[in-house]
Amino acid sequence: MADSPAPRVLRIAIPSPLRRLFDYLPQGAPPQGGWSPGLRVRVEFGRRQVVGVIVDCRDDSDLPLTKLKPIQACLDKAPLPGDWLWLCRFTSRYYQHALGDTLAHAMPVLLRQGRPLEARVRERWQVAPNGDPERLGRAPRQAELLEMLRQHPQGLTTQVIQAQSFTRDQLKALEAKGLVSCREETLTGTTPVDGQGLLSSPALALNDEQAKALNQLHQGLDRFHPCLLHGVTGSGKTEVYLQLIEAVVAKKRQALVLIPEIGLTPQTLGRFRQRFRVPVVALHSGLTDHERLDAWEAAASGRAPIVIGTRSAIFTPLARPGLIIVDEEHDGSFKQQDGLRYHARDLAVVRAKRHGIPLLLGSATPSLESLHRARTGDYAHLRLTRRATRHAPARLELVDLKGRPRRGGLIPPVIDAIKATLDAGHQVLVFINRRGFAPTLACHACGWMAECDHCDARMTWHRQPPMLACHHCDRRRVIPDACPDCGSADLRPLGSGTERTEESLAEAFAETPVHRIDRDSTRAKDALEKMLTEVRRGEPAILVGTQMLAKGHHLPHVTLVVVVNADAGLYASDFRALEHSAQLLEQVAGRAGRAAHPGRVLVQTMHPDDPSLRLLAERGYDALAESLLEERRIAALPPLRFMALVRLEGPREDALTALAREIAGELRDQVRSLALDLDCLGPVPAPMERRQNRYHLQIALMAERRSQLHPALEWLAHRLEAWPEARRIRWSIDVDPQTLS
Ligand code: ADP
Ligand code: ZN
Ligand code: ZN
Repeated sequence: MADSPAPRVLRIAIPSPLRRLFDYLPQGAPPQGGWSPGLRVRVEFGRRQVVGVIVDCRDDSDLPLTKLKPIQACLDKAPLPGDWLWLCRFTSRYYQHALGDTLAHAMPVLLRQGRPLEARVRERWQVAPNGDPERLGRAPRQAELLEMLRQHPQGLTTQVIQAQSFTRDQLKALEAKGLVSCREETLTGTTPVDGQGLLSSPALALNDEQAKALNQLHQGLDRFHPCLLHGVTGSGKTEVYLQLIEAVVAKKRQALVLIPEIGLTPQTLGRFRQRFRVPVVALHSGLTDHERLDAWEAAASGRAPIVIGTRSAIFTPLARPGLIIVDEEHDGSFKQQDGLRYHARDLAVVRAKRHGIPLLLGSATPSLESLHRARTGDYAHLRLTRRATRHAPARLELVDLKGRPRRGGLIPPVIDAIKATLDAGHQVLVFINRRGFAPTLACHACGWMAECDHCDARMTWHRQPPMLACHHCDRRRVIPDACPDCGSADLRPLGSGTERTEESLAEAFAETPVHRIDRDSTRAKDALEKMLTEVRRGEPAILVGTQMLAKGHHLPHVTLVVVVNADAGLYASDFRALEHSAQLLEQVAGRAGRAAHPGRVLVQTMHPDDPSLRLLAERGYDALAESLLEERRIAALPPLRFMALVRLEGPREDALTALAREIAGELRDQVRSLALDLDCLGPVPAPMERRQNRYHLQIALMAERRSQLHPALEWLAHRLEAWPEARRIRWSIDVDPQTLS
């Protein structure tokens, strides 16, 4: 390689919220490939030592070179992958987030701390094929060790051998005599090379719809080919993923599969691991820092053909990218709601395009974003309309709540249906989207309700342990004996939460186990899996749970699903509330009747005549989604327009309002002077204006074209960052916000 002259200046991204880069001087011998973007370096930053990433090598700086400090050390022999750096730069620009912070977010903790990007290896010992037994000599322990290894033709690791009280010296002695051999292997496993094929269990024979979808997907394996796999729950989408991945891995390429947080269960992972003989590497929050680095390295080096992970796995580098799948693409957990507010599904699109590979978005209830793109032809629209198993998904039956006595939130005909289901030997799932005993505590004499002092919100009544808790700020209070306003002792629960419904069901069905599944009951490690294992044994049982239960879990014995209250999304101020609530209802309903028996779904509502709810019940999610898209078009809302939300919060309402008005005014001037085609709305109070004793305002930007949004946001970010007044408040920019709260 011709030596290019060494750069005089390294431009470095430092983990910090500041939206700028910092110049340093190179120092020490450059790594083999020379100074280049993607190398991690240790530098002094203020009084701290931090790990930064070189993003540019240049000959000049805005500062005189004499003012620049040299780096302390270069931490890598080779730069981090170029595609990874590219994705981080894109993310930083698109979401208006500092590059240094973005890079830090996109790498495992140990890399952030400066550890080398290396796989941990262990030794595996095997009997050497042509060893001469004569050479063993008189060594009884070595003979025993050799015998043990003979019993294990696939070899044993040093750790296992030592656990049997043999020593490394004995192994080394046998190796020196040519009787055993040792090889190093990585902890994430290795791809078998014995030509026995990729699968350890055979693929299923596809039905017509699956075969047609797979066939279409096979056509696009060598190019950017975005597809929406739109299939009802249980229609066999996962089987299509598995067979597509097989084709990709057969071509020696890698597949990246993104799964919602709630969906990455041992069950899901088990399904992938059962099918493939090649390593399936998982990236999720349960890993130790070392395991995470191992997984990252296995993906980056290309050793892991299949990588499955939750949101942040979108930043996993791949040496030989071949396919990206986003399962349950509509799921809210793909969007990060604080700090770097990226959407993993949207980045998956960007990444697949960059690599020139297929992208598969799967869902029974696609987001309006993806449906819109499928309708406009940007995405191929693949449909699976039938369940792979026997029974069609159940229709929703609306049940009128008005004027009927309730017990734990359930009315008599619904309790009768639960009884009938249990009598038939089946299981019931009761879905209620509120944890705690009751949404609040109210005085029957004067109407007082328990409210949080720090938020515009009511406090939830919990029984286990007893307290009032605010779900927005986590503030807790003891339950009062009497009304603080009128002194009456007649305090009663208002509405029902999981605890209260569980309690009434346990009373009504004393012989039947009632399992409550929510964030409170599943805090202990494995608590959820334990309950589900019990439930899968199939004895009659009632499950009471929040949306933790709605997705991912296969509950074959559930034939009745009850939704305690469907009304939360109906009249909400957030324009996406109805979409999200319909998706949730459809997913919950999808839990019913997945195995031998057909299912039934009872949905309690105060508004059985609501047109949206009726559309959902009578014609299903797809019909409702069509009508919502039409509403969005008329109201000029996403996905037909692009949106960004600027959130501002501060301790004092008047100061915050004044500042927000000023910045919105400047922003409007800027939009005019740059001749941008966009609307700037606000400032307006956030849906919950006071939260954690701070005031929240928002400014919304809407544009027909994405390109119009970004210059305005970039200006705003720099303005707010440089504006001394803005130091007294907190602000953030959310591009493509998923909620307005
Ligand atoms: P989805 O991902 O669409 O919810 P799954 O892939 O989980 O659906 O499939 C639902 C059930 O149907 C699973 O138990 C799966 O093993 C089974 N299944 C899927 N495809 C087939 C097929 N072609 N033949 C038989 N069973 C199938
Ligand atoms: Zn009172
Ligand atoms: Zn609060």
